[in-house]
Amino acid sequence: MKIICIGRNYVAHAKELGNEIPDEPVIFMKPDSALLRNNEPFFIPGFSNEIHHEIELVIKIDRLGKYIEKRFAHRYYSEIGLGIDFTARDLQQKLKDKGLPWEKAKAFDKSAVLANTFLKKDQIENLNSIKFNLNINDQQVQSGDSSLMIFPIDEIIAQVSKYFTLKIGDLIYTGTPAGVGPVKIGDRLEGYLEGQKLLDFYIK
Ligand code: ZN
Repeated sequence: MKIICIGRNYVAHAKELGNEIPDEPVIFMKPDSALLRNNEPFFIPGFSNEIHHEIELVIKIDRLGKYIEKRFAHRYYSEIGLGIDFTARDLQQKLKDKGLPWEKAKAFDKSAVLANTFLKKDQIENLNSIKFNLNINDQQVQSGDSSLMIFPIDEIIAQVSKYFTLKIGDLIYTGTPAGVGPVKIGDRLEGYLEGQKLLDFYIK
């Protein structure tokens, strides 16, 4: 199982970090050791003083495929989930400045939070406008709508599968909307997908 992540997939988020709007998806990966499930607490790692939350829609691949055409991409997933792509922003900035890969800042242990429950496509009112949000300590900090993606889900699958064979169980984190920011010890994070609370855990 692999975790594929898309960066800079919402205009407002790309701008808040001072990045250009990409003309093709920014792709990076996390290993399976990055997964954090069951609403277990997230422990801030010692190598960063600035861990940012990034709430994201997560696609679960349920069919093997390579060179998937956009018009057939919908056949390769039947469930949408919710996750957080935790990012060591201070470390990422250092790596970006040096032109180095982001893995240490993005792919570290437990950096990929994943809700246990996925929604089936038919549980979602409008697949072109999937709503999700993140609250910290009862305040909404990020709210997303898949209609604002620069590269929509089916386009992501087409692009990613040019480079990487997609296998059953692979996860694609589809990018975060604006409003990223740091978490601190004691914070309670609650994530909602289509109004359903799927994430509820603490920072330790
Ligand atoms: Zn992200």
